[in-house]
Amino acid sequence: MKSAIILGAGMVGVATAIHLRQRGWSVVLLDRREPGRETSYGNAGIIQSEALRPYPMSHAWRELANIAIGRTNDVRYRIAALPWHLGPLLSYWWHSFPARHARASAAYAQIIGCAIREHEAFSRQSEADNLIRRDGFRILYRAQPALEAAVAAAVTLREAYGVKFRVMTSAALKQAEPALADAGVGGVHWLEPWTVFDPGGLVLAYANLFMRLGGHIVRGDAQSLSASGSGGWSVITEDGRMEAETAVIALGPWSPNLLNRFGYRFPMVRKRGYHRHFAGGSRLDLPLYDAANGYVLAPMTRGARITTGAEFAPPGGKPDLTQLACAEQAARKLLDVGRPVEPKPWIGTRPCMPDMLPVIGGAPHHRGLWLHFGHGHHGFTLGPTTGRLIAELMNNEAPMVDPFPYRPERYQRQTLSVNPEL
Ligand SMILES: Cc1cc2nc3c(=O)[nH]c(=O)nc-3n(C[C@H](O)[C@H](O)[C@H](O)COP(=O)(O)OP(=O)(O)OC[C@H]3O[C@@H](n4cnc5c(N)ncnc54)[C@H](O)[C@@H]3O)c2cc1C
Repeated sequence: MKSAIILGAGMVGVATAIHLRQRGWSVVLLDRREPGRETSYGNAGIIQSEALRPYPMSHAWRELANIAIGRTNDVRYRIAALPWHLGPLLSYWWHSFPARHARASAAYAQIIGCAIREHEAFSRQSEADNLIRRDGFRILYRAQPALEAAVAAAVTLREAYGVKFRVMTSAALKQAEPALADAGVGGVHWLEPWTVFDPGGLVLAYANLFMRLGGHIVRGDAQSLSASGSGGWSVITEDGRMEAETAVIALGPWSPNLLNRFGYRFPMVRKRGYHRHFAGGSRLDLPLYDAANGYVLAPMTRGARITTGAEFAPPGGKPDLTQLACAEQAARKLLDVGRPVEPKPWIGTRPCMPDMLPVIGGAPHHRGLWLHFGHGHHGFTLGPTTGRLIAELMNNEAPMVDPFPYRPERYQRQTLSVNPEL
């Protein structure tokens, strides 16, 4: 029987583990925490079937100037953090030119296009339907030109991919969401995405499915990964040392750190995000993205979750709650969100690759080591799909989509000399 150790039990690692187990592999899933407690816990919980094009970096000088002077809330930065982010950001900017972005989008659309189908299979088998709504989410606009631009972009997406949306007047939005005191100039309702009341709970439900299929979940530190004498890979877990023929690195934003030890340098655009739950106020029916203020307000099990946009913070830098405070202030003008549930907000990092595509494939210089990370803004959406793709590659099956755009080798130029001991 073929065997694998999956490092990281977020949406990406758990999904990989299920797909391999369904192919008869012996699979151990390792994490230092319970499954789904990090990035896959803290997101906005939207399975974004409409996000067929990855988010490029703006090339519009006006938008960049607004970010530079702190006039936007969807993207913020700290000056002290810039030296650390500059290299990956320049690469992101380069990949965001229209022709390159169009190439990335062609690949992205293929995997996003499978996302609902793959979640459907998992959610059915894990009986997680109570965590999911299948009614889409809404975007509220506060200025007519912004709404018109969004509608034009949505029409282009519909023509290219057949996605469904509905344009809403301010009155229609208010009727759909009676709790709103202000419905701006109206909005767009994306009709097909799924929304999840407890993103970490969904990952846990999928992890339970993995165990029911005969998989093992263990606690341990992924940094203990090493090549074993028998040509495979081993890790130290709370249950002792474990070995397998293959190992998969699915550590989300922590993946490049571990790979440094093996001589690989993967540039990552680390976009920090915050969330906090509020309870005791009014409740929205569906998640709402307030486009002008760059946050999502989503009805979740623990309360109304306000999730922020991207912050470029220094590594390990203390939380800066400005972005979340601005989001909360804007949300309070829309409706009574109530009181904060947690004493402190949650903080996490979107693991974005500069070319906006995840890394999926075998490590260039290490037999049996597989890489599966860098899902950026959409890892919660994409985990089950790219989990299938990597399982097919590992199992020597015909892949569901062309894996070439995701190959780890595309970052070879950043690769340092390989540790000869490994
Ligand atoms: C604010 C915010 C909002 C978002 N909203 C959405 C959304 O609405 N829809 C969407 O699709 N995506 C969204 N995303 C993106 C999505 O959450 C991520 O892309 C996805 O969760 C990444 O999953 P992952 O499994 O790769 O990483 P993670 O979920 O972070 O999993 C990595 C795992 O590795 C483990 N780990 C790390 N280091 C070690 C170690 N040394 N030893 C053992 N274990 C270790 C961690 O404990 C963790 O469980 C959002 C992200 C953020 C931050």
